[in-house]
Amino acid sequence: MSLHWAEARLADPGLTPMLHQYLSVKVAHPEAIVLFRMGDFYEAFFEDAEDCAERLNITLTSRSKEREVKMAGVPHHALDSYLARLIAQGQTVVIVDQVEDPKQAKGLVRREVTRVVSPGTYVDPEADPRAQNFLLAVALGKGKAARRAWGLAALELGTGEFRACRGEGQVSLLDELHRLNSKEILCCRLSEEDPLAAALSEALSGVRLSFPEGAVVGKDAGRAALSAQLGAQAVAAAEQALGPLAVEAAGAALSFSAHTQLHPEAPDLKGPVSLGHVCRLRAYQPGGGLGLDAAARTHLELFRTQREGARRGSLLWSIDGEVQSSMGGRLLAEWLAYPLQDMEAITARQEAVQALLQAPLALDRLREGMKGLPDIQRLMGRVVMGRAGPRDLLRLRGALERAPELLSIVAELSAGEQGSVRLKALSEAPRCQPLQATLRAALSEEASTDPTAVGVFQPGFDAALDRVVDLAQNGKARMLELEAREREATGISKLKVRHNKVFGYFIEVTKANLRLVPERYIRKQTMVNAERFITEELKALEIEVTEAEERRVRRSLELFEAMLSEVASQVAELSQLSQALAELDVYACFARLAERRGWVRPSLHEGSELEIEEGRHPVLEALADTLGEPFVPNDLKLGDLCRLMILTGPNMAGKSTVMRQTALIVILAHMGAFVPARRARIGRVDRVFTRVGASDELTRGMSTFMVEMTETAAILQSATRRSLILLDEIGRGTSTFDGLSIAWAVAEHLHDQVGALTLFATHYHELTQLARDRKGVINQHIAVKQGEGKIVFLRKLVDGPTERSYGVEVAKLAGLPAGVLRRARQVLRALESEAGPSQAHASLDQLSLFSKAPAPAQAEPAVEGPSEAEREVLSRLRELPMDELSAREALAALWSMQDVLRGE
Ligand code: ADP
Ligand code: MG
Repeated sequence: MSLHWAEARLADPGLTPMLHQYLSVKVAHPEAIVLFRMGDFYEAFFEDAEDCAERLNITLTSRSKEREVKMAGVPHHALDSYLARLIAQGQTVVIVDQVEDPKQAKGLVRREVTRVVSPGTYVDPEADPRAQNFLLAVALGKGKAARRAWGLAALELGTGEFRACRGEGQVSLLDELHRLNSKEILCCRLSEEDPLAAALSEALSGVRLSFPEGAVVGKDAGRAALSAQLGAQAVAAAEQALGPLAVEAAGAALSFSAHTQLHPEAPDLKGPVSLGHVCRLRAYQPGGGLGLDAAARTHLELFRTQREGARRGSLLWSIDGEVQSSMGGRLLAEWLAYPLQDMEAITARQEAVQALLQAPLALDRLREGMKGLPDIQRLMGRVVMGRAGPRDLLRLRGALERAPELLSIVAELSAGEQGSVRLKALSEAPRCQPLQATLRAALSEEASTDPTAVGVFQPGFDAALDRVVDLAQNGKARMLELEAREREATGISKLKVRHNKVFGYFIEVTKANLRLVPERYIRKQTMVNAERFITEELKALEIEVTEAEERRVRRSLELFEAMLSEVASQVAELSQLSQALAELDVYACFARLAERRGWVRPSLHEGSELEIEEGRHPVLEALADTLGEPFVPNDLKLGDLCRLMILTGPNMAGKSTVMRQTALIVILAHMGAFVPARRARIGRVDRVFTRVGASDELTRGMSTFMVEMTETAAILQSATRRSLILLDEIGRGTSTFDGLSIAWAVAEHLHDQVGALTLFATHYHELTQLARDRKGVINQHIAVKQGEGKIVFLRKLVDGPTERSYGVEVAKLAGLPAGVLRRARQVLRALESEAGPSQAHASLDQLSLFSKAPAPAQAEPAVEGPSEAEREVLSRLRELPMDELSAREALAALWSMQDVLRGE
C-alpha cells in the first residue's frame, strides 16, 4: 500500500514541532479532515488545506515561515457552520484543540483531539428538529447472505434514543438500514472485502460505512461501555432478548460515540460532558409491525416524493402539519416508519384519538398548550453533553411549566372505567415539578448563552453570589469615590482613575499638573501628554474588585453546574415526560385530522376483507386547492369475493391514485390513525407491497425492466394471504408480448398460489379475461365520459372492464397535432377490424404496427382521407425542385408548407 501523504510528510526531518504535532494527528486519522486550533482559527494543512479550500470555498494561503506549507482556516467562532457543511458532504472531521493556556505553555502548546465529528454523531444545533440522525452499528454473524444473522443498534446522540434489534439475511438487514435512514454505519465483524460490504454500499448510496477495529469498538470495549452506561443487568437483559450480535452492535455504537464526542477538555463545553441521556436500550422487532420495504416506502411517497425527493407532497407532509411540537413530529414519523400489526396496541391508539375527538374543547386547549412546546428531549441531550447554556435551561423550564396542565387535561379525559387506557397512562407521566421549581427560583428571565454573564441568576437565589456581585459592582463605585478624594487632596481637578488590560487601574495626571502630584504616588508609565501612577490604596482596591469579579464568575459556574447536574439526575423522568407529550401531540394530530378533514375511525378485524367507502387520497385531498378539480372519493372492496382486482381505464383516469390511496389508508389504519374515508373496515395486513411499472418511475441506472422483475420476484416470494399488493402497470419495460405474458403469469400466481389482496392496474386489456374463469378475480375500471370530441375524466371506480382505452383521446388532450390524431384513429380502426377489438388495443408492438398498417386510402377512403391542406402540401412536396434549391429556399418552402397545415 502506498504511504498516505501525512505519513510521508511526517518522515521529513525538517518539520517544525507544530507541524509534527499536526501530522501525528493526521496520521492517526487519515480518512478524516483534521482541523487544528491556532490562535483564533481552526486550520487545515497540506492536502487537507486544498481540500477544505475547495469544499468550503475559503482562501488557500501558505505559512510565511514554512513557505511550501499550504494552509486554510476558519474562524473558531464559526466552526459550527463549517462543520455542518463538511458533514453534509459526508466528511468526518477531527478537531484538535489547545488544551493548555498558550501563555503558560512552555514550548509547544499541548494540543489534543477533543472531538471526532462524523455524519452519524454530529448534533447539528441548526438541524431540522423533526428529523432524526442515527449512528448505526451492525454486527454480522457468519454464513450465507440469505441466512446470515445480524444485530443492529441505532443511537441518536441529540436525543439519547438508543435501540437495537436482530434478524437474519441480507434482505431484512437492508430493509431495516433503509428504514432508519442513517448517514453513517459502523460495520463490526465485517471486512471491507466481504461481498456484503459491497452490497451495503451499493444499496445505501451516500451513507458512510466505516469498518472500525480494535480498542474502541471491539467486543469487550463495547460491552464494558454498555455496562457502565446502562448497568450490567440491562446488558444481560438485552442479551437475553436479542442475542450477542445486537449487544455487540449496541456496544460499538455507544463506545464509538463516547470515545469520539466526550473529551472533557473540549473548549466549547459549558459543563461536564457525558452520555447520561442514553439511559435505556430499547429492544425491538423490525418484523413485528406492518411490513413496508424500501420500494413501498418510495412508491407510496410516505416521507418524500419520488420525483423531486421533496417533503411537500408526501404522506408525512400531509399529516404532520397538525403536530404542534418537534417531539410529536419525530414520533409521528416514527409511527409512519413502523406501522403496527398488534390489534390491541392499534385499538388503544384509536381509543385515545377518539377520546380527544369527543372532547373538542379539551382538544383545543391541548393543541394550544402544545404549540411551540420546547423540545425536552433535545434540550436534555444538550445539557448532559455539556453544550447547554442558561437559555436552554430557560426553555426546558418553559416546557416543564406547561406540562402539568397538559397532563391534567388528559387525566380528566381518561378518568373513569371507559376512559382511554393510553391517555390514562400518559397522564401519569412524571411532571418533574421539583426541577421546574428549582429552575424557576434560580434563573432570571435574562436569556443568555453564557452562564457567567451578569444577570443569569435571580437576585436572592444564592446569597454567596449576591455578595460577590455586590462587591464587584461596589468596587466600581468605590473607584469613583477614590477619584473624587484624590482630586480634592491634590487639587488636580482633571485627575482621572482609568483602567486598561495591561496595567489594570491607574491614576492619570496631565503634564501640566505634574508638580501637584504627591510623594505617595508611584510612577508607572509616561505618555506624551500625561503620566500614569498608582497608589497603595488603589492597588488594594483593584485586587478587591478583580477578585470579586473572579469570585462572581466562579460562583456563577458553580451554580450553573449544579443546575446541570440537577437536570442530568432527572433524565429518566424527563425522557418519560417528553415521550408522553410527544405521544399526546400525535393523538391530538390524528384527532384534528378527523375533525378538520372528516377522517373516520377504521374498524380493524382479523378477517381479510378490506372495505372502504368514499375513500380519498390523503395527499391529493390536502392539495385539493391546487388540483384544479374537486377530489372524487371512491368505494373499494376486496376480500374473499375479490382477491385480485384488475383495474383498467385510460391513462390519467386515476388508477394509480385509487390504488395508492387504498394502501395509504391501510397504513394509516395500522398506525392507529383515522383514515380519509366515510367508512372503513380493514382486515389486518402483514405487509404492503407495491410495484410500479417502469414508465411511472425514475430510472436508477439499472435497466428498468430488470428492476421491475427483481422487485416483482421479491413480492412473489414473500407475499402471504394477509398481504396487500399494488401492481401498477408492470411489464411496461419490455416489448408488448413479453410484458403481457409476464403480467398474466404474475396475476395468475398471485391469485392461485398466494391469495394476497391485489390491486392490479394494467393497460393490457387481455388481463380482464382472467375474471371469466376465476372466482376471486374482479374487473373494475375508472369511468370516463366522451363528450364533444374529447373525454371527460369522471374519476369513478365502477364495475367491469373498460371497453376501450381512449388512448387517442388522451393524446388529444395532451396536444398531439390533429393530423397525427386522425391518422392514429384510422390505424386503430383498421387494426380492430382485422384482429378483433381486444387484441387491437395492445397486442401489437411498433414493428408489426407499421408492417400491418393498411394504407390510408384502402382503409376508409370515404371517411378519413387526407384533408384539403394535407393534399395540397403533399403535392407541393412532390413537385419541389430539390436540385435547384438553396438551403435557405428549402427552409422557406418548409415553413410555408407548415403554415398551410397549421392554417387548417
Ligand atoms: P392513471 O394512473 O390512471 O394514469 P393517475 O392516478 O396518475 O392516473 O391520476 C392522474 C391525475 O388525475 C392525478 O394526478 C390527479 O391529479 C387526478 N386524479 C386522480 N384521481 C382523482 C380523483 N379521484 N379525484 C380528483 N382527481 C383525481
Ligand atoms: Mg398510473
